[in-house]
Amino acid sequence: MNPPPLAPPHSSFTPKVAILGAGIIGLAVAFELAIKRGVPVTIYDPAPMGRGASWAAAGMLAPAFEAAAEEGVHPHLFDLCMEGAELWPDFSIDLAHAADAESGYSGRPSLALAFDMAETAAMHKLARALDARGIAHEELPPGTAHLLEPSLAPDLVAALQMPTDGQVDNRAVVRALIMALQRSPLATLRSEAAPLRSVGGRLSLEGHDLILAAAGWSTAAIKVEENGERLSLVNWDPALDEIDCYGGQMLSVAHGYGSPETTLRCGTIYIAPKADRVIIGATVEPGVATEAPEPAAISALLARAARLCPVLADLPIIETWAGIRPGTRDRAPLIGETAVPGLYVASGHFRNGILLAPITARIIADMMLGKPMSELHQSFSPSRIGAVA
Ligand SMILES: Cc1cc2nc3c(=O)[nH]c(=O)nc-3n(C[C@H](O)[C@H](O)[C@H](O)COP(=O)(O)OP(=O)(O)OC[C@H]3O[C@@H](n4cnc5c(N)ncnc54)[C@H](O)[C@@H]3O)c2cc1C
Repeated sequence: MNPPPLAPPHSSFTPKVAILGAGIIGLAVAFELAIKRGVPVTIYDPAPMGRGASWAAAGMLAPAFEAAAEEGVHPHLFDLCMEGAELWPDFSIDLAHAADAESGYSGRPSLALAFDMAETAAMHKLARALDARGIAHEELPPGTAHLLEPSLAPDLVAALQMPTDGQVDNRAVVRALIMALQRSPLATLRSEAAPLRSVGGRLSLEGHDLILAAAGWSTAAIKVEENGERLSLVNWDPALDEIDCYGGQMLSVAHGYGSPETTLRCGTIYIAPKADRVIIGATVEPGVATEAPEPAAISALLARAARLCPVLADLPIIETWAGIRPGTRDRAPLIGETAVPGLYVASGHFRNGILLAPITARIIADMMLGKPMSELHQSFSPSRIGAVA
């Protein structure tokens, strides 16, 4: 017998939703659906939940630094990132209530730093991009920056304060999301791959009306059983092939006397202090999908971070690791319904998956429940991939 088709979204219908992938994206969508909107969800993940890229990240919420002056990216990525940043204060309060646990959200502004002419030019380019968008920022002379963050090296040339760019503790967030969902009568967490099936090319998952593919960099490879064969989800929508892997290595050191308290950015290096550790990152390695850090890359990161804050060189290393970002060519996520009605995707968030988790959750929930979509949100649909090709 043919399975029933996945259901179309409709405003008066409460669907049963299956979410494939328990990273911050899948968990945030489950939180939005089950806890905020009363929609039953099942979350499937064969690996330990929340331990993918979402565990590896630095937790910066950085629309200005990550998206304002980036070239060759999705034309509305900055707008989505700003909307995402604006949702975080309320999202962290809702999460704290539901989980009885903190997310480490902080609105303390980040600083972009410059120590030479090239870095100063990059900083001014970012300031001009923010000016053009009407986004608040302030260039600080070195003396003022040193008062704000005494750990900065004495040869600082200039700093740019970015009030839009805060941070969370991403590990605390995924732990809290899992706790909140475990408490919800509408959420079921299953430590296994979903038994997705296809009969005659038609996808189904027993007991569910809608499916969200949110398996980070391996979303296209989610397995589907058809006539005893194991196929991949990409066969149902080639746009999923767009999601590629971008390795990233990082380390954390212990806090010590005079260690930094502000999120600091300079070129590709950043320092993100959390309550219990100081994170230093990160490499960006296209096509690399390993979770094993390399000692040489870690030493180079530490040396470059110590150029910004010399105290870091003397603090004990707590942990080194590598994570795998899901990325796309336009550096923007695929969010929306796929070529298969009833099958949605939320993946490819690249360097902004923590920042974009609450807004992604809201967009997917709105779509699944048949709410009207803004043009901005529609522009992240996976159908844009085919259109570009
Ligand atoms: C080094 C590094 C630093 C970063 N720093 C930041 C930052 O500061 N700020 C920011 O906003 N973003 C940052 N990011 C990016 C961010 O971490 C990612 O964009 C985000 O975590 C992606 O979330 P995800 O849920 O899509 O993927 P993941 O967290 O990787 O989760 C995917 C989940 O899917 C599961 N899965 C895999 N296959 C299947 C399957 N077949 N069925 C079901 N489940 C499956 C996996 O086990 C995993 O749990 C960073 C990333 C890295 C690597």
